[in-house]
Amino acid sequence: MLVTGGSRGIGAATCLMAAKHGYAVAVNYHSNREAADAVVAAIEKDGGKALAIQADVADEQDVVRLFATVDDKLGRITALVNNAGIVDQPAKVADMAAERVARMMSVNVVGPFLCAREAIRRMGTSYGGPGGVIVNVSSAASHAAGSGGANTYIDYGASKGAIDTFTEGLAKEVAPEQIRVSAVRPGVVDTEIHASGGLPDKPEQAKSVIPLGRVGQPEDIAEAILYLSEAQFTTGAFLDVDGGV
Ligand code: NAP
Repeated sequence: MLVTGGSRGIGAATCLMAAKHGYAVAVNYHSNREAADAVVAAIEKDGGKALAIQADVADEQDVVRLFATVDDKLGRITALVNNAGIVDQPAKVADMAAERVARMMSVNVVGPFLCAREAIRRMGTSYGGPGGVIVNVSSAASHAAGSGGANTYIDYGASKGAIDTFTEGLAKEVAPEQIRVSAVRPGVVDTEIHASGGLPDKPEQAKSVIPLGRVGQPEDIAEAILYLSEAQFTTGAFLDVDGGV
């Protein structure tokens, strides 16, 4: 299993859980080598197999190299988790620069397209592959439950809306290749992404509006990702993991 953005947060929890489920895991990261190495070390300590691979998912050459490294070091990929994603500082659309919106779309949308392309060429039965699964990490911000990111980052919400449409279309397109494609839509999860977007208090503040009375932990989302990875008759599915918002 290749997990993009596997070094921290939801991706790291997914790598650790996937290893427990018996997967050899490719832990992709962008710049935090130490965090990726710590995930690999934790997996190896438990007797699992993992490899940290640096690549910017928004960069086509990086993505091609990422998959070639997986081929060489871990063998043919059977599961891809399109997890890497970014937010930005709170801003209204009236104040958004083109560069900001373009980077958001490059990482959160173009990245998953490129990774899916490389995965399909390896998993698809018409390419000689055995089939497989792609799980996209969308967000409650893609739809009304998360208000589409209004007043903070509609560019982020829109990027996740694109991921929802991508999931629906791709599930139909590659079902004949025996590749399943589904998505998880997390609500607010306790990770470093909020501080990186200038909203470190978001998890604390969100608690009061979440029916289950707490924010999600990365493991809550990892559990859903592993479920969708392994549910053999499930494709084109959306799993909202958001505490009931
Ligand atoms: P996080 O803690 O900020 O971790 C982000 C991960 O993505 C890191 O491993 C980071 O690598 C990697 N990454 C960032 N840009 C990348 C790039 N260009 N290429 C490759 N890897 C890159 O984030 P998170 O909260 O776990 O979020 C993971 C996913 O869940 C994202 O798609 C996010 O939109 C989605 N999500 C999160 C929440 C939430 O409340 N946390 C809610 C809904 C959806 P480095 O360690 O090298 O920086």
